Amino acid sequence: MCRPKGSDQQVKGLSSGLSAIEASSGLVLTEKDPSAPSPSANPERRRLTSIPLTYFDASKNDPDGSTQCILLPGMKEAIYAQFGFPLRIPRLPSPAHCLKHVDGAGLGMFATRAIGAGDLICSERPLFLGPGAWVYAGARVPVGDAMSQLFQEWDEFMKIAVDRMEPEKQDAYRALANSHLHDGSPALIGILRTNGFSVSGELRKVFPSLPKDELSLFTAIGEVLSRVNHSCRPNANILMDMPSFSLQLVALRPIAAGEEITVSYTNVMGTHAERQRKLAPYGFTCTCHTCVNPALSDDRRRQLKSLQHFLTREYFDGWLNPRSSLPDDHWPKKLQEVRQLVQEEGLYETAIWSDYLARLRDVFAALGDQEKVFRCCRTILDIYSATDAYVVPEARQSAAAMYAAPSDFGFWGKKATSRPESAEKEADV
Ligand SMILES: [Zn+2]
Repeated sequence: MCRPKGSDQQVKGLSSGLSAIEASSGLVLTEKDPSAPSPSANPERRRLTSIPLTYFDASKNDPDGSTQCILLPGMKEAIYAQFGFPLRIPRLPSPAHCLKHVDGAGLGMFATRAIGAGDLICSERPLFLGPGAWVYAGARVPVGDAMSQLFQEWDEFMKIAVDRMEPEKQDAYRALANSHLHDGSPALIGILRTNGFSVSGELRKVFPSLPKDELSLFTAIGEVLSRVNHSCRPNANILMDMPSFSLQLVALRPIAAGEEITVSYTNVMGTHAERQRKLAPYGFTCTCHTCVNPALSDDRRRQLKSLQHFLTREYFDGWLNPRSSLPDDHWPKKLQEVRQLVQEEGLYETAIWSDYLARLRDVFAALGDQEKVFRCCRTILDIYSATDAYVVPEARQSAAAMYAAPSDFGFWGKKATSRPESAEKEADV
């Protein structure tokens, strides 16, 4: 069948697929209450489209390429409504990475030079972006007849999406790893299930009505970035930059030349057993530094969770209060414990680390130490640039405001006469 290039295509037949997965898994995937419609209420209206548009006259095409997307009603318009969309994809003057064979893990990505925390490592326009709920649900429920039917149905959509890609992009998609060769997944679906990264948080920034339930997950695949291997102590994170509609790999901490660049495919705060269970559908057993000694790692992560409540503003305010009955060093010592555990476990992508940095910044502001406040602020902003999807706007504004004028904050210098020894030791952020 001949289709005009760049046109949108109606994606039909999803309802029966969703009903099938509901029947097999007990999950509620379709809207039941017609009086409370949501963007996913009518899956029949999802559209297959190219972003940016492609033309028969290739000279008119976006030089950064185009992504095949399956989107909800209104989502495409919201993406195009961004100022100046699409912005050029940021590129490095020279590559900071290379792809190399890794024993037992196919290709992996390695740093070709030293990379700083918060630095962009690699960016690309995704090959595909679309709903991922059925992908994740598929990983959680047994593959029975109903799932097979759903996969076959989605395989038809993926065939259309892949067929719309440029020939070399079609080859790139088909060359990606597939860890679902023996569970009934058709090849194109298996590749999507193996290589997709969640982009729901980023999509929600331009399309706020995207529900926050796991059935509204969206996933994207990158020709290069889907090659990055997993670690439970990742040194980088992949995010979707919506203004340039690009996947971007950003360093979470300094990375040495020659070091493998890794991201996490699962919640790094889970226990060893939970992580391995979540990673099983990817067809490997993680043997990262953390997984080599699971008892020690589980204990440290449990300790971290138990310390998390010390990172609230409430504890900082208590520390500031001159009538507090606690020794001046009590709370800063708790911060020190958090820092040590995060560093031992390599958990720089977690909210615990950015919350810790924010409280440390507040401590130095209360001590009136401008240089250390600035260092904390720079580290926080580096982390925020690497974990963009999880950062609430208020936290980013607060970090930027403190960086611009630390002495404007009400607690500036309030503890200037008190310099707890443990806070001094924290200086090297
Ligand atoms: Zn691991």
